[in-house]
Amino acid sequence: MAVTSPIDVDRYVARIRAFDAERYEIATEATVTDRERAYPVLSVRSRARANKTLLVLAGVHGDEQAGLLAIPAILEAHRSERVRLVVITPVNPVGAARRSRLSAGGHDINRDFLRFRTPEARVVRDVFARERPDFVISLHEGPQRGTFMFANRFVDAALARALCDDLHRGGTMLAKKDYFGLRLDPPGLSPSFAVGRAITKLWAVAFRLKATIAYSEDREIPELVLESSSRTVDEAARVRPHVDLVAAVAKRIA
Ligand SMILES: [Zn+2]
Repeated sequence: MAVTSPIDVDRYVARIRAFDAERYEIATEATVTDRERAYPVLSVRSRARANKTLLVLAGVHGDEQAGLLAIPAILEAHRSERVRLVVITPVNPVGAARRSRLSAGGHDINRDFLRFRTPEARVVRDVFARERPDFVISLHEGPQRGTFMFANRFVDAALARALCDDLHRGGTMLAKKDYFGLRLDPPGLSPSFAVGRAITKLWAVAFRLKATIAYSEDREIPELVLESSSRTVDEAARVRPHVDLVAAVAKRIA
Protein backbone atom coordinates (compact mmCIF):
# COMPACT_ATOMS: atom_id res chain seq x y z
CA MET A 1 0.00 0.00 0.00
CA ALA A 2 2.79 2.40 0.88
CA VAL A 3 4.60 4.17 -1.91
CA THR A 4 8.06 4.47 -0.38
CA SER A 5 10.50 1.58 0.06
CA PRO A 6 9.79 -0.93 2.87
CA ILE A 7 11.76 -0.74 6.07
CA ASP A 8 14.72 -3.01 6.75
CA VAL A 9 13.44 -4.78 9.86
CA ASP A 10 16.91 -5.67 11.23
CA ARG A 11 18.07 -2.08 10.98
CA TYR A 12 14.80 -0.86 12.43
CA VAL A 13 15.08 -3.18 15.43
CA ALA A 14 18.73 -2.13 15.96
CA ARG A 15 17.68 1.51 15.88
CA ILE A 16 14.98 0.96 18.51
CA ARG A 17 17.33 -1.07 20.71
CA ALA A 18 19.87 1.76 20.58
CA PHE A 19 17.50 4.12 22.40
CA ASP A 20 18.80 5.66 25.58
CA ALA A 21 18.62 3.06 28.35
CA GLU A 22 18.20 5.79 30.95
CA ARG A 23 14.93 6.83 29.37
CA TYR A 24 13.61 3.53 28.03
CA GLU A 25 13.52 -0.09 29.04
CA ILE A 26 13.53 -2.30 25.94
CA ALA A 27 12.56 -5.97 25.96
CA THR A 28 11.95 -8.76 23.48
CA GLU A 29 8.36 -9.88 24.07
CA ALA A 30 8.37 -12.69 21.51
CA THR A 31 10.31 -14.02 18.57
CA VAL A 32 8.55 -14.86 15.33
CA THR A 33 10.26 -17.02 12.72
CA ASP A 34 9.95 -16.99 8.98
CA ARG A 35 12.05 -19.24 6.74
CA GLU A 36 14.45 -19.94 9.60
CA ARG A 37 14.92 -16.26 10.31
CA ALA A 38 13.93 -14.93 13.72
CA TYR A 39 12.33 -11.54 14.19
CA PRO A 40 11.69 -9.93 17.58
CA VAL A 41 8.56 -8.16 18.74
CA LEU A 42 9.91 -5.43 21.03
CA SER A 43 8.37 -3.52 23.88
CA VAL A 44 9.72 -0.09 24.77
CA ARG A 45 8.74 1.43 28.11
CA SER A 46 9.57 4.89 29.35
CA ARG A 47 10.99 4.87 32.85
CA ALA A 48 9.00 7.87 34.09
CA ARG A 49 7.14 7.30 37.35
CA ALA A 50 3.91 8.47 35.81
CA ASN A 51 0.36 7.80 36.90
CA LYS A 52 -0.98 7.31 33.35
CA THR A 53 0.09 4.72 30.80
CA LEU A 54 -0.26 5.23 27.05
CA LEU A 55 0.15 2.08 24.95
CA VAL A 56 1.09 2.47 21.28
CA LEU A 57 0.82 -0.43 18.82
CA ALA A 58 2.98 0.04 15.73
CA GLY A 59 2.88 -2.15 12.66
CA VAL A 60 -0.04 -4.52 13.29
CA HIS A 61 -0.39 -4.59 9.49
CA GLY A 62 3.08 -5.04 8.00
CA ASP A 63 2.29 -3.22 4.77
CA GLU A 64 1.27 -0.05 6.63
CA GLN A 65 4.70 1.21 7.63
CA ALA A 66 4.15 4.89 8.47
CA GLY A 67 3.59 4.02 12.14
CA LEU A 68 6.83 2.04 12.27
CA LEU A 69 8.74 4.86 10.61
CA ALA A 70 7.30 7.26 13.20
CA ILE A 71 8.42 5.35 16.30
CA PRO A 72 11.99 6.72 16.54
CA ALA A 73 10.62 10.29 16.38
CA ILE A 74 7.90 9.41 18.90
CA LEU A 75 10.49 8.02 21.34
CA GLU A 76 12.72 11.01 20.76
CA ALA A 77 9.91 13.48 21.42
CA HIS A 78 8.34 11.85 24.48
CA ARG A 79 9.58 13.64 27.60
CA SER A 80 6.51 13.45 29.80
CA GLU A 81 6.97 12.60 33.46
CA ARG A 82 3.21 12.28 33.85
CA VAL A 83 2.51 9.74 31.12
CA ARG A 84 4.40 6.48 30.80
CA LEU A 85 4.78 5.52 27.16
CA VAL A 86 4.72 1.83 26.26
CA VAL A 87 5.27 0.87 22.61
CA ILE A 88 5.02 -2.55 20.99
CA THR A 89 6.96 -2.57 17.74
CA PRO A 90 6.88 -4.13 15.23
CA VAL A 91 3.72 -5.96 16.30
CA ASN A 92 3.99 -7.87 13.01
CA PRO A 93 7.73 -8.06 12.16
CA VAL A 94 7.40 -10.72 9.47
CA GLY A 95 4.62 -8.73 7.81
CA ALA A 96 6.89 -5.67 7.91
CA ALA A 97 9.77 -7.63 6.33
CA ARG A 98 7.51 -9.07 3.63
CA ARG A 99 5.49 -5.86 3.42
CA SER A 100 2.36 -7.90 3.99
CA ARG A 101 -0.79 -7.17 5.94
CA LEU A 102 -0.68 -10.71 7.34
CA SER A 103 1.35 -12.29 10.13
CA ALA A 104 4.09 -14.92 9.91
CA GLY A 105 1.36 -17.57 10.09
CA GLY A 106 -0.76 -15.90 7.38
CA HIS A 107 -3.35 -14.31 9.70
CA ASP A 108 -4.69 -10.79 10.05
CA ILE A 109 -3.52 -10.04 13.60
CA ASN A 110 -6.15 -7.32 13.88
CA ARG A 111 -8.92 -9.93 13.64
CA ASP A 112 -7.37 -12.22 16.24
CA PHE A 113 -8.34 -10.55 19.51
CA LEU A 114 -10.92 -13.16 20.41
CA ARG A 115 -9.20 -16.43 19.60
CA PHE A 116 -5.55 -15.39 19.93
CA ARG A 117 -4.24 -17.92 17.43
CA THR A 118 -1.25 -15.70 16.56
CA PRO A 119 1.73 -15.21 18.88
CA GLU A 120 1.69 -11.53 17.83
CA ALA A 121 -1.84 -10.96 19.21
CA ARG A 122 -0.91 -12.87 22.36
CA VAL A 123 2.00 -10.45 22.91
CA VAL A 124 -0.40 -7.51 22.72
CA ARG A 125 -2.83 -9.26 25.08
CA ASP A 126 -0.05 -9.97 27.60
CA VAL A 127 1.24 -6.41 27.47
CA PHE A 128 -2.31 -5.11 28.06
CA ALA A 129 -2.57 -7.35 31.13
CA ARG A 130 0.83 -6.38 32.49
CA GLU A 131 0.89 -2.63 31.73
CA ARG A 132 -2.81 -1.83 32.30
CA PRO A 133 -2.92 1.06 29.80
CA ASP A 134 -5.21 4.04 30.37
CA PHE A 135 -5.28 4.78 26.64
CA VAL A 136 -4.31 2.87 23.48
CA ILE A 137 -3.31 4.14 20.03
CA SER A 138 -2.87 1.72 17.13
CA LEU A 139 -0.99 3.14 14.14
CA HIS A 140 -2.22 2.21 10.64
CA GLU A 141 -2.38 3.55 7.09
CA GLY A 142 -5.31 3.51 4.67
CA PRO A 143 -5.95 4.34 1.01
CA GLN A 144 -8.25 7.33 1.70
CA ARG A 145 -7.33 10.95 1.05
CA GLY A 146 -6.12 12.53 4.28
CA THR A 147 -5.85 11.20 7.80
CA PHE A 148 -8.62 10.03 10.11
CA MET A 149 -9.03 7.96 13.24
CA PHE A 150 -11.52 5.45 14.55
CA ALA A 151 -12.47 5.94 18.19
CA ASN A 152 -14.08 3.37 20.45
CA ARG A 153 -16.87 4.45 22.79
CA PHE A 154 -14.52 5.12 25.70
CA VAL A 155 -12.76 7.94 23.86
CA ASP A 156 -14.28 11.15 25.16
CA ALA A 157 -15.98 13.05 22.30
CA ALA A 158 -14.50 16.44 23.25
CA LEU A 159 -11.04 14.89 23.52
CA ALA A 160 -11.38 13.29 20.07
CA ARG A 161 -12.34 16.65 18.52
CA ALA A 162 -9.48 18.41 20.28
CA LEU A 163 -7.06 15.79 18.93
CA CYS A 164 -8.33 16.38 15.38
CA ASP A 165 -7.65 20.09 15.91
CA ASP A 166 -4.17 19.27 17.19
CA LEU A 167 -3.43 17.21 14.06
CA HIS A 168 -4.79 19.92 11.78
CA ARG A 169 -2.71 22.60 13.51
CA GLY A 170 0.40 20.46 13.05
CA GLY A 171 -0.14 20.41 9.29
CA THR A 172 -1.90 17.06 8.86
CA MET A 173 -4.62 17.06 6.23
CA LEU A 174 -7.74 15.53 7.78
CA ALA A 175 -9.89 13.18 5.70
CA LYS A 176 -13.44 14.20 4.81
CA LYS A 177 -14.33 10.59 4.03
CA ASP A 178 -13.11 7.29 5.46
CA TYR A 179 -11.91 4.43 3.24
CA PHE A 180 -15.45 3.10 2.91
CA GLY A 181 -16.42 6.48 1.40
CA LEU A 182 -18.47 7.49 4.46
CA ARG A 183 -18.47 11.18 5.29
CA LEU A 184 -16.57 12.15 8.43
CA ASP A 185 -18.00 14.89 10.61
CA PRO A 186 -15.87 16.48 11.92
CA PRO A 187 -13.21 15.69 9.29
CA GLY A 188 -10.66 13.23 10.65
CA LEU A 189 -12.93 11.43 13.10
CA SER A 190 -14.89 8.19 12.83
CA PRO A 191 -16.55 7.90 16.24
CA SER A 192 -18.04 4.77 17.73
CA PHE A 193 -21.68 4.41 16.72
CA ALA A 194 -24.42 1.89 17.42
CA VAL A 195 -24.46 0.23 13.98
CA GLY A 196 -20.68 -0.16 14.03
CA ARG A 197 -20.82 -1.76 17.46
CA ALA A 198 -23.54 -4.13 16.28
CA ILE A 199 -21.39 -5.17 13.31
CA THR A 200 -18.44 -5.71 15.66
CA LYS A 201 -20.61 -7.95 17.84
CA LEU A 202 -21.82 -9.87 14.82
CA TRP A 203 -18.24 -10.38 13.63
CA ALA A 204 -17.35 -11.82 17.01
CA VAL A 205 -20.34 -14.14 17.20
CA ALA A 206 -20.48 -15.27 13.57
CA PHE A 207 -16.84 -15.27 12.53
CA ARG A 208 -14.98 -15.20 15.87
CA LEU A 209 -13.09 -12.10 14.72
CA LYS A 210 -12.12 -9.16 16.90
CA ALA A 211 -9.90 -6.10 16.38
CA THR A 212 -7.80 -4.33 19.02
CA ILE A 213 -10.25 -1.43 19.18
CA ALA A 214 -13.05 -3.79 20.29
CA TYR A 215 -10.74 -5.66 22.66
CA SER A 216 -9.94 -2.33 24.36
CA GLU A 217 -13.61 -1.44 24.43
CA ASP A 218 -14.40 -4.72 26.24
CA ARG A 219 -11.91 -3.57 28.89
CA GLU A 220 -13.36 -0.03 29.02
CA ILE A 221 -10.06 1.37 27.73
CA PRO A 222 -10.23 4.22 25.18
CA GLU A 223 -8.53 3.39 21.88
CA LEU A 224 -7.85 5.39 18.74
CA VAL A 225 -6.92 3.65 15.51
CA LEU A 226 -5.02 6.15 13.39
CA GLU A 227 -5.35 5.76 9.62
CA SER A 228 -2.97 8.13 7.88
CA SER A 229 -3.13 8.35 4.10
CA SER A 230 -0.95 5.84 2.28
CA ARG A 231 -1.17 8.17 -0.73
CA THR A 232 1.26 10.53 0.99
CA VAL A 233 4.67 10.31 -0.68
CA ASP A 234 6.68 12.80 1.35
CA GLU A 235 8.13 10.91 4.32
CA ALA A 236 7.88 13.79 6.81
CA ALA A 237 4.20 14.28 5.95
CA ARG A 238 3.60 10.53 6.12
CA VAL A 239 5.05 10.20 9.62
CA ARG A 240 3.70 13.47 11.04
CA PRO A 241 0.14 12.38 11.99
CA HIS A 242 1.57 9.46 14.00
CA VAL A 243 4.13 11.55 15.87
CA ASP A 244 1.67 14.38 16.49
CA LEU A 245 -1.18 12.14 17.66
CA VAL A 246 0.94 10.32 20.24
CA ALA A 247 2.30 13.64 21.54
CA ALA A 248 -1.17 15.20 21.66
CA VAL A 249 -2.73 12.27 23.51
CA ALA A 250 0.19 12.18 26.00
CA LYS A 251 -0.34 15.87 26.67
CA ARG A 252 -4.11 15.73 26.95
CA ILE A 253 -4.45 12.68 29.21
CA ALA A 254 -1.66 13.78 31.60
ZN1 LIG B 1 -4.26 -1.48 9.18
